[in-house]
Amino acid sequence: MDFKKSQKLYNKGLENLVGAVNSPVRAFASVGGNPLFIKKAKGSRIVDVDGNKYVDLVLSYGPMIIGHRHKKVQRAVNKALKNGYSFGASTENEIKLAKIVCNAFPGMDKVRFVNSGTEAVLSGIRLARAFTGKNKIIKFSGCYHGHQDALLVAAGSGLATLSLPGSKGVPEGAVKNTLIATYNDLESVKKHFENDDDIAGVIIEPVGGNMGVVIPQNDFLKELKEYLHSKGALLIADEVMTGFRSKFGGAQELLGVEADITCLGKVIGGGFPVGAYGARNEIMEMVAPLGGMYQAGTLSGNPIAMAGGISTLTELKNQNPYEQFNEVGQQIETILLEAAKKHGVEITVNRFGSMLNPFFTSTQVTNFEEAQTSDTKKFAVFFWEMIKNGVFLPPSQFEAWFLSSAITEEDIEVIRKAVDKAMNKVAQ
Ligand code: PLP
Repeated sequence: MDFKKSQKLYNKGLENLVGAVNSPVRAFASVGGNPLFIKKAKGSRIVDVDGNKYVDLVLSYGPMIIGHRHKKVQRAVNKALKNGYSFGASTENEIKLAKIVCNAFPGMDKVRFVNSGTEAVLSGIRLARAFTGKNKIIKFSGCYHGHQDALLVAAGSGLATLSLPGSKGVPEGAVKNTLIATYNDLESVKKHFENDDDIAGVIIEPVGGNMGVVIPQNDFLKELKEYLHSKGALLIADEVMTGFRSKFGGAQELLGVEADITCLGKVIGGGFPVGAYGARNEIMEMVAPLGGMYQAGTLSGNPIAMAGGISTLTELKNQNPYEQFNEVGQQIETILLEAAKKHGVEITVNRFGSMLNPFFTSTQVTNFEEAQTSDTKKFAVFFWEMIKNGVFLPPSQFEAWFLSSAITEEDIEVIRKAVDKAMNKVAQ
């Protein structure tokens, strides 16, 4: 396997692109080497410009839940393209996608489409402030909610990968209303409320996916919601990653908690740029043109993206792959644990349905601090051996791996062999 063409494109890309990437999570900063350039993908497989084929466990960081280039999605998008790309006016498909999303989330009467997860969350936060009339927001360390100023503190994903505490260019004033708590630790939330009656709500990934996968323990989410309501604050679920991935709908229902405001992205666009935020009527009626909270977008509800979202979610509902996800997820978890044991490597595997990843640590991982006990050098060795053996992984210890319904028995065998070789290499 060689990466000559990727290397060449990388060097060329450095001239006019920052680090030759358009999102830092795509850089190979923490695993070494240069990012791979992709030529195409189909189903469960992705191909780089050198012609190397991989089983894809990145899936565009989640959206490609039914695999790449599903024929029904292609057909729907091609059909939409024939009518025009953007009108600056409403289309019927926006109503259709809104119906699918609201039906899937019991707590959502209305939804507003935006263009990314970042936009969904920044709007959701604005809405919580508008509704409660309060200013402060609590976030959990290790959770990532997009790159809006106010939440770029103690964040996971690329910030965790690059070991950055926050971002330069974010003024103090932008984060002065952001409070930090510890995932799975209700007391750390309560502490903030003790001397503060200006807290609008808590934003949480109902299952953490940006510090690696971290699962809410016991009744953490339920107790959190009860507590917040007793204080007149809102629960904002950032389901950009978990929405339609954990079940048809969100992780909230599976975990028995209904959030006040839900933010979505990734899967709802099926690979096209779509984000959304939604809530019950009384909250959504704050949003312009019904209410005084302003939020807008030239390309919001874009007809091509709506066609991608509708066809993806319709196919996803028909396939109902959630049991398959659990079974395949369990298989991969077992593959990882058995190979680690065989080669004497200490790992912890966290998994929630079709999201999983190994941490190279012997401790349990229930929050960001514990995730950071992982040996990222071992991960880097593991990562490259997986690549060389045909499995495309996110180039970071702190990103979740994703499954699609297009995964096959043959893919699982590729993963099994690659994991064995990679654990062997880590052990050397
Ligand atoms: N929220 C969560 C939980 C995410 O995982 C992400 C992206 O990974 C975002 C928000 C930001 O979404 P986007 O990258 O589409 O702006």
